[in-house]
Amino acid sequence: MKTVTLMETEAIDFFAGSDGAYYTPIVGVEARCSWCAQWGHPAGLYHRQVLFTRRAALVCGRHVRREREGWQETV
Ligand SMILES: [Zn+2]
Repeated sequence: MKTVTLMETEAIDFFAGSDGAYYTPIVGVEARCSWCAQWGHPAGLYHRQVLFTRRAALVCGRHVRREREGWQETV
């Protein structure tokens, strides 16, 4: 299964994916994943977009790994 690693950006709820696209978590929307065609609600949905293009997709949390490194360094 295709997976991407998301890294936090300076913007809230805006993540940079290891595939070069950007991801935003979506709440309150039910849709099928563009990649695996499963319903998104058990895993969460992300809006995937490639900047400067109109290509956008909804992908589910099954493909997403959130990078938590660097959190301890804040304060
Ligand atoms: Zn999926």
